[in-house]
Amino acid sequence: MEMAYTGTGVMVDSGPLNGVIAGKGKGESVEKAIAYLEAKALGQGTTNYRLRDWLVSRQRYWGAPIPIIHCEHCGAVPVPEADLPVTLPESVAFTGKGASPLAKVADWVNVPCPSCGKAAQRETDTMDTFLDSSWYFLRYADANNEAAVFTPERVNDWLPVDQYVGGIEHAILHLLYSRFFTKVLRDRHLLNFDEPFQRLLTQGMVQAITYKNSEGQFIVPDDIADLNHPTDPTTGEALQVSYEKMSKSKFNGVPPAQVLAKYGADTARMFILFKAPPEKDLEWDDADVEGQYRFLNRVWRMVIAFATSEAASAVSAIDTAIDTMVPSELSKADKTLRRATHTAIKAITEDIEGDYQFNTAVSELMKLSNAIYDCVDKTTPAFAESICTLVKLIAPFAPHIADELWSHLFTDGACVHQQAWPQVDETALVADEITLVIQIMGKTRGTLQVPAGADKAALERYARESQVAQRYLEGKEIKKIIVVPGKLVNFVAV
Ligand SMILES: [Zn+2]
Repeated sequence: MEMAYTGTGVMVDSGPLNGVIAGKGKGESVEKAIAYLEAKALGQGTTNYRLRDWLVSRQRYWGAPIPIIHCEHCGAVPVPEADLPVTLPESVAFTGKGASPLAKVADWVNVPCPSCGKAAQRETDTMDTFLDSSWYFLRYADANNEAAVFTPERVNDWLPVDQYVGGIEHAILHLLYSRFFTKVLRDRHLLNFDEPFQRLLTQGMVQAITYKNSEGQFIVPDDIADLNHPTDPTTGEALQVSYEKMSKSKFNGVPPAQVLAKYGADTARMFILFKAPPEKDLEWDDADVEGQYRFLNRVWRMVIAFATSEAASAVSAIDTAIDTMVPSELSKADKTLRRATHTAIKAITEDIEGDYQFNTAVSELMKLSNAIYDCVDKTTPAFAESICTLVKLIAPFAPHIADELWSHLFTDGACVHQQAWPQVDETALVADEITLVIQIMGKTRGTLQVPAGADKAALERYARESQVAQRYLEGKEIKKIIVVPGKLVNFVAV
């Protein structure tokens, strides 16, 4: 062997590591080597951050000035604290030639040396913007502080950041620098925490449809005669259709102003949240935007219909009606509706607080809306509860429409966004009935509504007596009956 083998393989001639798999993925050699050295007290594992030297100066105008004055006699002299911050001059010519544009602003560059008072020059390079982005979030906690970058009390009170959202392009440099700054400031006792961000979400990109010819040129959609069968307007050849990141050069941008003008901001939000989980790329689709628009319109009509109904006006305070509701005395339909209402509260709360599964939360909103739509008696307190809950649950997703609807339900001037988040009534989640699947020889032949608490014997009886079973088992001998409580009954018959 002439050089170290770096691929995946089995360790040989390696003492205690003989036979261990090495390499990326399934390899354990690094962990085992560390464990061996630690057990023998010969060394210990550590994390290598690979933070390299970082040249922080730039020959640019935009950037924080480096607060240094160069003096022939004293060398590099820091600008006295009383003169900070150094601000950028406003009369600058941008020529694109030579050194930093600041170097040509004579009345800014030439200053007396703070140390000896003789003629000296300011540093004309500015700092890399990464230097600002590495700690800007700390300043947010104390943005009006004129005396210092921040006071530790305020920053320790507000930070670390609970949830950071950003593009994947920041996942390496910006985050590493921010962690480095935080750790330095912690070592200087200016912070009492170790990491700047507790949780990171890198959101996906919005993609839209593109049309490309065989030479790789993107075609303007307006030039294509039939978008269902796209062909090149000059050659007539079929075009390649694919979703790609929105870009002017690919002619697939969707101007936000156009979407807002046609559908409003709430529809745009609902579509974006519904189309994909936030960490995944999102394919822009006009039909789906339209779908969310229709959904919001339906919610609007249902809530307004209730708000202007006699039921709502008779119940002068909807809240009171809901509070005085006796769940055990509810009709079957009301129980079903309450189950839908509280199932939605539970699911949406979990989707928001958990892994930000906003797309499934929007699905739950649609399910609740369907349950409300299907409800026959739209005058009961259970119905009022479901309507008010729907508006509260939709508020984080479609804030404008939700608040407008709330003002139709409650005329006390209150804002939906100041209402308490709805609480789950666990008793409302318990089903009185379940859907029992009837199988004959393992094949599903039908379903049956049965009491939820029925035991195995009762389930078998319900199944035997069902029309489905009677029809399929006629003239046959039952050999065996398999009962899965809460789910199904399977008849084995010949
Ligand atoms: Zn000097």
